[in-house]
Amino acid sequence: MSAHLIDGKKVAELVKNEVKKAVDKIIDHGDEPPCLAVILVGDDEASKVYVGHKEKACALAGIRSLTYRLPHDTEQGALEGLITQLSEDPSVDGILLQLPLPRHLNKERAIDLINPRKDVDGLHPYNQGMLAGGRVGIFPCTPLGVMELIASTKTTIQGKIAVVVGRSMLVGAPVSHMLNHAGASVINLHSRSVNPWDLARMGDILVVATGVRHLVDRRWVKPGAVVIDVGIHRHDGKLTGDVNFEEARSIASHITPVPGGVGPMTIAMLLSNCVKAWNLKHR
Ligand code: NAP
Repeated sequence: MSAHLIDGKKVAELVKNEVKKAVDKIIDHGDEPPCLAVILVGDDEASKVYVGHKEKACALAGIRSLTYRLPHDTEQGALEGLITQLSEDPSVDGILLQLPLPRHLNKERAIDLINPRKDVDGLHPYNQGMLAGGRVGIFPCTPLGVMELIASTKTTIQGKIAVVVGRSMLVGAPVSHMLNHAGASVINLHSRSVNPWDLARMGDILVVATGVRHLVDRRWVKPGAVVIDVGIHRHDGKLTGDVNFEEARSIASHITPVPGGVGPMTIAMLLSNCVKAWNLKHR
């Protein structure tokens, strides 16, 4: 058996089209379109590329974007001053602090100052708490994208066993909450789990976000499972994931490729979160 490929580019396009329609409706109604403020501190090359992609995606969706490029030696006080100013600015709907920050800056203190209603990355403790409690909030983009990809397979989540490998605040922990709220029984594995493949093999749905290239091989995959690979690594000039794709695809029913799986979803869900933040303010 060879698993169906989950086409992240296609699903991301559908989400972006929905966002564009929502933004057009806002403009047709005579309102200002959503406005996203992005803060980029320092010269991290990958971050610069990501911010460029975000600016372009915003423009295509009709979302206004403002990018604040701060020098590497920016002091904590100056960063916090800008975040406070943007949090209070009524013309700004979403705030995104591009991570990682230079090492001398305190990420948590900066994130804590973002107005939770403008926290389009869903990393503020308020939104993390709302997610854990099954309440309404703005939630992290990559996990939202993972849920869209699972939905695209038409797999019923309720009553299934879902295994999430990784427990970061950015991916693993929020995905676990989302799957739990969707009615799955969730097993969350991490670096201290013993013989994790024995538990992973119980998963009807297997989401992997570890940052360890090809960690998940055939031993981890239940026959017929839906496998979502969040990992992204450049190896021998090619992009690859946390899952050994060739081994897993012969066992799974559906699987995301890398590239072209989860990657395209993150920006699509960021745009969707900008509209959500706009709605939280206006509706
Ligand atoms: P992270 O913060 O480093 O967290 C990694 C998690 O994996 C931790 O919870 C860690 O466990 C767990 N882990 C590490 N080694 C493990 C092992 N051998 N067995 C089981 N669990 C293990 O990373 P992240 O931010 O969640 O990102 C994970 C991956 O996703 C990375 O490759 C990243 O590049 C990628 N990513 C992709 C996108 C996208 O848009 N495609 C977005 C975000 C992240 P402990 O908690 O015990 O340390």
